[in-house]
Amino acid sequence: MIELKFLGSGNAFCPDGRLHSLVLIDGTLLIDAPPTLIPQLRRAGINPADIESLLITHWHGDHVFGFPFLILERRYISDREGEKTLDVHLHSGGEGRLRHLSELAFPGSLEEVLDERVTFHHRSDGSIQGSTNGWTFERFPVYHTPETEPHGYQLTHPSGLTLIHCGDSGPCAEIETRAPLADVVIIELGLPDYVDSDYHYKPTTLSKLAEECPETTFLATHLFTDSEGSGVATVPSLPSNVIEVSDGDGFVWSDGGLSRVSN
Ligand SMILES: [Zn+2]
Ligand SMILES: [Zn+2]
Repeated sequence: MIELKFLGSGNAFCPDGRLHSLVLIDGTLLIDAPPTLIPQLRRAGINPADIESLLITHWHGDHVFGFPFLILERRYISDREGEKTLDVHLHSGGEGRLRHLSELAFPGSLEEVLDERVTFHHRSDGSIQGSTNGWTFERFPVYHTPETEPHGYQLTHPSGLTLIHCGDSGPCAEIETRAPLADVVIIELGLPDYVDSDYHYKPTTLSKLAEECPETTFLATHLFTDSEGSGVATVPSLPSNVIEVSDGDGFVWSDGGLSRVSN
């Protein structure tokens, strides 16, 4: 059984009812570290020290500015004894960025813990270590603000599940060729159709992709819309294989199928 927990579902602007998009896999593997990471973990009842691996997609603040807070919390609160380590998977040059960010946030406090308790991995493919064994990953480039070195991840589980996290991206060949072969695609829906930018998926482009991949389930996150029930209309109708997630949504993959288990 594989568990996907959405600790946030909003784009950079945190629409009403949504914190920054964040997904936790099997309780130990996080994709990205948004500014509100610690409150998101607390709200979900997850101990920050239980995070074993972190995959970074790109350098926008809504995806990485929580990193120093995660390291700080573990050092002073949830892992004072220094018993836990964190594997961070990121593209080349990323280690320097995260070290610089940590020094800006908490000067003089994090360098030692970064040296001793964090392992930075730069390879673009490999296996995820830790208590949840078996995941392998491949990092692939996507189409987004080039200065952010945007990437997505294809994750494969021995059970047969192929899961793609697209990071932030507009339509691109990498996603279009991988999505039809994946079971589940976590994809952003960051902008409404009227905004003139192709660095994000929009309702029309996501609908087109989903219609071309009828066997794939799309979990739409990084949403520009206010959450349901907050009084503002959500996205116009999307194909039936697209699920708009909400903060707190949990999904389980078992016996070859995906089901929503909470929220
Ligand atoms: Zn973003
Ligand atoms: Zn971005």
